[in-house]
Amino acid sequence: MKELFAVFGNPVYHSKSPLMHNLAFRTLKYDGCYTRWLLVEGEKLRETFFDLGFKGVNITVPHKEWAFKAADVVEDFAAEVRAVNTLVLKEGKLHGYNTDAPGFYRALTRLGEVKTALIMGAGGTARALSLFLRSKGVEIEVVNRSAGRLEWFEKEGFVCHTWEEFEVKGHDAIINTTSAGLTDDALPMPEELLDRALKEARYAVDVIYGKETPFLKEAKKLGLPHFDGSEMLLQQGIIAFDHFTDHRYTLEEIEKAMRPFLELGT
Ligand code: NDP
Repeated sequence: MKELFAVFGNPVYHSKSPLMHNLAFRTLKYDGCYTRWLLVEGEKLRETFFDLGFKGVNITVPHKEWAFKAADVVEDFAAEVRAVNTLVLKEGKLHGYNTDAPGFYRALTRLGEVKTALIMGAGGTARALSLFLRSKGVEIEVVNRSAGRLEWFEKEGFVCHTWEEFEVKGHDAIINTTSAGLTDDALPMPEELLDRALKEARYAVDVIYGKETPFLKEAKKLGLPHFDGSEMLLQQGIIAFDHFTDHRYTLEEIEKAMRPFLELGT
C-alpha cells in the first residue's frame, strides 16, 4: 500500500521537501507520496499525524519543539536540542529525529577536514549546529551581534563574543547562521571584521538558501570552497528519507536520486 508523508509547517507553501522526496520515491521506485500540510496549532501535531494516516513527516518552523513533545521515542541529539524535524511511525510508536545538524555535518565534511569553526549568529540553528559539531570534535567559537542570545552558549561552555570584543584567530570554517542577507543585503558581521575572518579561513558556509548572500559572494571572491543552505536542505532530506524508508537504501543511493532536485529550482 502507498505510504503517505508530508511536511508540517506554518507557513508551508514554500517548502521544497515534497519535490525532493517525491523525486527520490519515483527514482527509487518506492511506493510513497509526499505532500505539504499547513499545521496551524502545534498542539494538534500528533492528532493530525494519526488522523491522516501518515507513515512519516518532516516538521519545519515553528513546530519542531511540538514535534519533540509529540514523539514517543526521541533519538539522543534531538532530545538534547529539544527539536525534532522528522517523525516516523514504527510499530505504533512515533520516533523523533533531528536531521538538520547531521545533514549539515555531512555537507561540511565534504569540504575537507574541519577542526575549528566560527559560527556567526546565536539563534536556534546556531544552537543545534554548535552542539552537533562539538560532539564530532570540532572546536567552536560563536560570534553574535548582541549579547543576549549568547548566554545559552556561555552556559554550555562555548567561547563566545559580541562583535566589539571579537578578535580574528583563524578558523577552518566560517558558518553564517544569522538571517543577515536573507531579505536584505546585510553582512553577518561588520565588513572589515568579516573580511579579516574570511581571509584566515579555509571554508565558508551559509545556511540561507534561495539566494546568494553578500557573505557567500565575498567568500567566493576569495576563492574559498563553500556551500549554501540548499546543500544543508538536501542533506537533511537524505537522512530523513533514510528514516522514512527504514534504511532500505544506502545514503549514496538516496543522494543520487534526490540531488537532481537542486536543478529543479530551489
Ligand atoms: P533565529 O531568529 O533564531 O536567529 C537569528 C540570528 O541572526 C540571531 O543571532 C540574530 O542576532 C542574527 N541576526 C539577524 N539579523 C542580523 C543582521 N542583520 N546582522 C547580524 N546578525 C543578525 O534564526 P534561526 O537560527 O531559526 O535561523 C537562522 C537562518 O537559518 C535563517 O536565515 C533560516 O532561513 C536559516 N535556516 C536554514 C535551514 C536550511 O535547511 N538550510 C534550516 C534552518 C534555518 P541577534 O541575537 O543580535 O538578534
